[in-house]
Amino acid sequence: MTEPMIRLNDLVLTYRNEAGPVEVLRRLRLDVTRGETVSVVGPSGSGKSSMMMVMAGLERATSGSVAIDGKNLGDLDEDALARFRGERIGIVFQDFHLIPTMSALENVAVPLELAGRRDAFEQASKTLQQVGLGHRLTHYPGQLSGGEQQRVALARAFAVQPRLLLADEPTGNLDGNTGEKVIELLFDLVSDHDTTLVLITHDPSLAERCSRTVRLADGQIIDDGTASASKTPKAEVAEPKLAAGV
Ligand code: ADP
Ligand code: MG
Repeated sequence: MTEPMIRLNDLVLTYRNEAGPVEVLRRLRLDVTRGETVSVVGPSGSGKSSMMMVMAGLERATSGSVAIDGKNLGDLDEDALARFRGERIGIVFQDFHLIPTMSALENVAVPLELAGRRDAFEQASKTLQQVGLGHRLTHYPGQLSGGEQQRVALARAFAVQPRLLLADEPTGNLDGNTGEKVIELLFDLVSDHDTTLVLITHDPSLAERCSRTVRLADGQIIDDGTASASKTPKAEVAEPKLAAGV
C-alpha cells in the first residue's frame, strides 16, 4: 500500500512521423501519492496530453516505465491493459468523447458492462442522477448541451469508481459558468470517492485548487510541485530523488 498511485520512471515517448522521430516526453520522473490531486500545466505542445495518454495506457512508453496502482503497464498485453484501465482509471477529455449513437444512459453503462457488472444500467442511472442528469437518461449526446455532455462523461468516468481520474482540460470547450459547475462536480466526486486526480489545465485558478502542480515544458518536468523542488535548485533535487525512488 506504500506504492504511489502513479510512478513514471525515466519515461520517454517518441512519435514517429515523416520528418523522423520526435521525442515528446523526455525522461519524466514523477510519483503521485494516493489521494493526491495534481494539476499539470505548461505551454501548448509541451507534452501534457501525451503524458496523460501514457498514464492511461492509451500510448505505450517508448522507453522507461509507467506504473499505475503498483502495476507496470508495460507488463500488460492489450486485453489486460484495457481491462486494467476499465477497472481503475477514469478519463475525461476536453471534447467529451461520448458515443453519439448511444443515449446518456448507454454511454455510462458501457464501462460497467465491460467490467462485468450485471446491474450496469441501474448503476448508470444512479450515477447520472448524482450528476443531476436523471431527467436526461434517454437523450443522445447531440441533444445535450456541452455542460450536460461533460457531466455524462464524468458520470461515465466515475461509474466504475476508479482509483485514478485523468482529466485533460475538461472545461476547455465550455463557457466560464458551465465550466465552473462541471469543475465543482468533478472535485465533489473526487473527494467523495477519494480518487487520485491528474488534471491538465491552463487555468491558474483551477490549477491552484489541486494539492500540487506539475509544470511541463518541452517534454520535461521543470517543476514537480514538491516543496524541495520549488526551494532547491534543480540539479540538487535530482540526486536524492534517484536514491529515494528505489
Ligand atoms: P499539450 O497537451 O501540452 O499541448 P501534446 O502532448 O498534445 O501537448 O503534444 C506534445 C507534442 O507532441 C507536440 O509537439 C505535438 O505536435 C506532438 N504530437 C502529439 N501527438 C502526436 C502524434 N500522434 N504524432 C506526432 N506528434 C504528435
Ligand atoms: Mg493537450
